[in-house]
Formats: sequence, C-alpha cells, structure tokens
Amino acid sequence: MKQEKTNNSFPVDYHIHTMLCNHAEGGMESYVKKAVSAGFKEICFLDHLTLGEPGNRLSMIPEEVPFYFQAVSHIKNRYRETISIKAGLEIDFNPGYVDLFKSISDSFSFDVIGAALHFPAGIDVVSRKSGWSNGENETDLIYGLYLEHLDKMLDYDYFDVVCHLDLVKKFGRMPSGSFEKDLDHIVGKIAKKNIAVEVNTSGYDYPAKEAFPSFYILKKCRKAGVGITIGSDAHDPESIGRHYEKALPLIRSAGYEHYCVFTERERSEVPMPNIECRARYTGTSDFEVRAALSENIKDNI
Ligand SMILES: [Zn+2]
Ligand SMILES: [Zn+2]
Repeated sequence: MKQEKTNNSFPVDYHIHTMLCNHAEGGMESYVKKAVSAGFKEICFLDHLTLGEPGNRLSMIPEEVPFYFQAVSHIKNRYRETISIKAGLEIDFNPGYVDLFKSISDSFSFDVIGAALHFPAGIDVVSRKSGWSNGENETDLIYGLYLEHLDKMLDYDYFDVVCHLDLVKKFGRMPSGSFEKDLDHIVGKIAKKNIAVEVNTSGYDYPAKEAFPSFYILKKCRKAGVGITIGSDAHDPESIGRHYEKALPLIRSAGYEHYCVFTERERSEVPMPNIECRARYTGTSDFEVRAALSENIKDNI
C-alpha cells in the first residue's frame, strides 16, 4: 500500500495554490479532496498575486481576483461540514504597487494575506529556470538585495504573514557571511509588527533541503515571540502536507507550542497537537544544528 505522504501532526495547511497562477496543477476541488483524505481540518488557498513581474505570467492578474475569491467562497461553502477552507493571497512585494495590493485585499474578505519576495530588484530567485538557480549572479550580492527588499517589505502593513522568509537559499547557494545573523534586524521588525512567519515545507524538495526558514532562524523567531503558520506551498494536490513529518520536530524543538490560524484577517493561536517528539536540538552553530537535525529526524520517523 502506498504510504500516505501527510499526517495529522498539524491539521492545517496554509499555503495552497490553484491553476490561476499558471504553474500549478489540479482543480481546486482536487486539492480539497486530497486534504480531506489526508485528515486535514483546515486549509488555506494562498495563490499568487504578483504585479509588474519580470518574464512569464506566474500569477493571477488583478482582474481575476474577484473570480478567485468567489471560487474559494463557493468551495468553502460546499465543504463546510467536512473541512474548513480559508481564502488568502500570496502577494509578491513590489513597492510600486502597494496601494493597489491594499485596495485589492481590502475589497474582499480574505482570511489571510501573505507577503513574499520572489523577485528582489526584479531578479528571479524562485524559478528553476532562473539565472540564480543556474549559477548566475554573485551570491553575496543577491543575498544583500534580498535582505534589503525584505527590510523594505516590512515597512508596510498590508499583510499578516511572511511567506518562506529565507527563500533565497532555495537553490542551495549560501553567502560568505552569516545570512542568519543578518536576519536579526528583520526578525525584530516582524516581531514588532506582530506579523507571523510561515514554516514552508517545500524547501525539502529543492537543493536547500530544509524548510523555509531554517531551524536556526525559526529559533530566533520563537525567541522574539513571532507566531507561525504552516504550509506546504502545494502546486499540485499530492503536495499538500508534504514533509510535515520533518517539520514537526523542527517546530517543536524551536520551542513552539502554538501555531496561528486566521479568519478574516483576525489571528488566533491554536495549541500544537500533543504528539510525542523526541527530537531536541541543542547545537549552537547552524552546521551543528543541521547535522543534529538530520540525525534526529532519522530516529523520529
Ligand atoms: Zn508558485
Ligand atoms: Zn512563494
């Protein structure tokens, strides 16, 4: 029998795409059915809204937002006895369009608005076909741009969650300095604004081979009192809840006892399910932490 990829460690998946973004597969209902069969109690569609993107269209366009919102509302209503379905957007930070983002998100009763940085200074750090993924661009320069744009993004208030906080590491390229230490200022800003950070499990499927953010950054977030959401960034139904078995020890070991859910932009904290988690990480350097993590995960699954 095929082993189910998901488990009930966290009964929510707060990052699911739809075909409207042009790079996801499967109808909305097939995501819902998969989530129900995998035992999820709540999911959130968080599809892309990117304006002024360089290159191909990888997002819905503003004119499609009413259709998207209506489609999620419709399916939410149809499945209301079976699973809770939330409506959200993953908005790509672009300082030129902040007023438009705000007016779009304010025009609909979205449950949650996520902010993401896929194209700092117009450079694609997210696509497999990008120059960044293929070894182009100077690594420290791109990390610097990424941080600079994250910092700018946090000057605004149109969103509730920062998606995949350290996405720039996706293709395994690491800077010469300590990116994690450089993030102190960013994490401080997130805490001050009471914004949540997403634990995004898609990173395990890329050369980064770990969640976004890393365990080290997640510990910083915990220490600063930053809340978390949890999501798989599914672009196909089968990816719902992917790698949650790895995320559980990570999140518990970072000290989290609650995760966040949202209803019409109101945040509430839910206690984590009381599942035995033997993994505990005490390493101080990122290298030790990662080594300990892989050991403990082997033990734990
Ligand atoms: Zn996407
Ligand atoms: Zn994203």
